[in-house]
Amino acid sequence: SNAISLKGLAKTYGNGKVALHGIDLDVPRGSLFGLLGPNGAGKSTLINILAGMVNKSAGQATVWGFDIDAHPRNAKASIGIVPQEILFDAFFTPFETLELQAGLFGVPRAKRRTMELLRAVRLDDKAHVYSRTLSGGMKRRLMVAKAMVHNPPVLILDEPTAGVDIELRQQLWAYVKTLHADGVTVILTTHYLEEAEALCDRIAIVDQGRIVANEATPVLLARA
Ligand code: ADP
Ligand code: ADP
Repeated sequence: SNAISLKGLAKTYGNGKVALHGIDLDVPRGSLFGLLGPNGAGKSTLINILAGMVNKSAGQATVWGFDIDAHPRNAKASIGIVPQEILFDAFFTPFETLELQAGLFGVPRAKRRTMELLRAVRLDDKAHVYSRTLSGGMKRRLMVAKAMVHNPPVLILDEPTAGVDIELRQQLWAYVKTLHADGVTVILTTHYLEEAEALCDRIAIVDQGRIVANEATPVLLARA
């Protein structure tokens, strides 16, 4: 089965704005999948529905085979999400941030898992400093570690490199590739074609709440 499967997924916000017009989309397991589209296309809405942060208006969504309505806990446990904004307490240390997150997900041996993750994102030497003193790149890496704390099979990154400089973008790309090589299904949203092109093996284009293309990257590029 697929990592993510959407059938007729629709969202109309309270103010009448239709953000998603009944979209169908399958993300194969093991892929590095790009959701490409301009601002306002509906990418964040789609991710927020999968994350359980926005209620869909209609349709069906499954994550790793779990329907988000019938099995919300299993669906949620199957994804890690790196949001656009940096979200953690500036007066917590990276160690505390990850240990707390591990606790929320009931991860066994939380301290051990925390140290393992800090090593993986090369923050072990910053484990016990206030997070507010970290550089932008370190904060982003901490966000990825936080999303991976419960070892989900699917990692979703919302605009991972929006507003970051070239050096940091290269670092983040390399890190995403490492996670993918380790077997994680990765989905990222972006409005940069070059980012989707450089990283993704498959790209779906979202425009005004609709999927207007969904192809293997070389096929999509040959057409453009
Ligand atoms: P719903 O309960 O239907 O999911 P929300 O509670 O998420 O809707 O949104 C409440 C209101 O917040 C919306 O009706 C809208 O006026 C406003 N709002 C929040 N974010 C946005 C945005 N990105 N664009 C336009 N309006 C927004
Ligand atoms: P993207 O992530 O591709 O930029 P979004 O999913 O954030 O797109 O937004 C899709 C559309 O829905 C936009 O027109 C946006 O203004 C609108 N929107 C997003 N959140 C809300 C909200 N809470 N209330 C009303 N409209 C919203």
